[in-house]
Amino acid sequence: MPETFQTPQGTFDVLPPDSRAYETLVARFAARVGAAGYGLVISPMFEDVGVFRRVGESTDVVRKEMYDFFDKGKPPRHLALRPEGTASVVRAFVQHRPRVPWKTWYAAPSFRYERAQAGRYRQHHQLGVEVLGTEDPLLDVEVIALLGGFYADVGLRQVALHLNSLGDDTCRPAYRAELEAFLAERADRLCDEHRERFRDNPLRVLDCKRPACLEATADAPLQVDRLCGPCTAHFTAVRGGLDALGVAFTLDKRLVRGLDYYTRTTFEFVGEALESAQNGVGGGGRYDRLAEDLGGPPTPGIGFGTGIERIRLAAAAEDVDLTGPAAVDVFVVDTTGGLAALQLTHELRAAGIGADRAWDGRSFKAQFKAADRSGARVAVVVGDDEAARGVVALKPLRGGPQIEVPADEMLQRVRTMIDDAH
Ligand SMILES: [Zn+2]
Ligand SMILES: [Zn+2]
Repeated sequence: MPETFQTPQGTFDVLPPDSRAYETLVARFAARVGAAGYGLVISPMFEDVGVFRRVGESTDVVRKEMYDFFDKGKPPRHLALRPEGTASVVRAFVQHRPRVPWKTWYAAPSFRYERAQAGRYRQHHQLGVEVLGTEDPLLDVEVIALLGGFYADVGLRQVALHLNSLGDDTCRPAYRAELEAFLAERADRLCDEHRERFRDNPLRVLDCKRPACLEATADAPLQVDRLCGPCTAHFTAVRGGLDALGVAFTLDKRLVRGLDYYTRTTFEFVGEALESAQNGVGGGGRYDRLAEDLGGPPTPGIGFGTGIERIRLAAAAEDVDLTGPAAVDVFVVDTTGGLAALQLTHELRAAGIGADRAWDGRSFKAQFKAADRSGARVAVVVGDDEAARGVVALKPLRGGPQIEVPADEMLQRVRTMIDDAH
């Protein structure tokens, strides 16, 4: 017996019809961002490990969970599967120096070598946009509204926008020192993890959901109350733009997000139908220093990422169906040997109508079962009797009378029946 194989630990297959939700999400996302002038970027799934180290030295995503490996080069190269979407796109920007503003989107997997446990996966699927080359605050509004609009497109209603500003090189260092001093005075009251490690990235402590940290930092100083003049003006313009579009948001002064590179505008869409520990559906923010950190010219940037798996959880919690209509509208049932089905499906598909059929000379009954499973709306039926008379029978699969039409009127009549059914 040959050995059998399964998906590697922490990964999963997405099979039809489940995968239709993925198709729907990617197609709707591409349509929305494409119509806003964003172009698709496809970059390698792995990069030099330095690309990701540069963006998150103090984060678990990079410190502990990076899916890194050495290749067969001489000497071997240290590479990593991408843990998130932004760093690769910014690396591509620095490498190719496209004209700015560079408005891009991606749909790609990301990888984290997490401990295997329920609900933790090593491969996720992300949709995102990244824009490089302008610090215009109204671009922040465009980017945020795009993501909110996408959630609305797919039917999510219970997602709430949380917004914050994390300052910049002018006002962040002083704030960070103030926060670090604040935490140092209360270190013994922080959770186990942060008691030792709060100096690595003091801001992350504000994001900690453990009761000890929440209590100890209840009256901590917050960056948004310590912004310099230009950061204040920028954040005011962002909020004004959101108001002008009628985009509701909550000012969330403790919103930090996971990665080191965020500056100024930071945002997250929270799924209110989800449990609070895992309720971020998507988010992002500015990263005005990242291009420089990756060896490029000073270039402001902003983007977001939203995980397909998390969107599916939010949709399930809201009872929203993401699967969309079946791609096949017509199923051809042929008991004359299969050649008629070959020709009719060919003709239907050439006319832009999704069509499928059964194989292996199955019985009439078996073919109808397959027709029902396909999700088609109409069966085109050809038996010896119909073939002899030059007609086909059209049977609506979700109720309604069967009719018989001349074979050369098949296309036109099928089209009418499908349109009526939609
Ligand atoms: Zn903590
Ligand atoms: Zn500032």
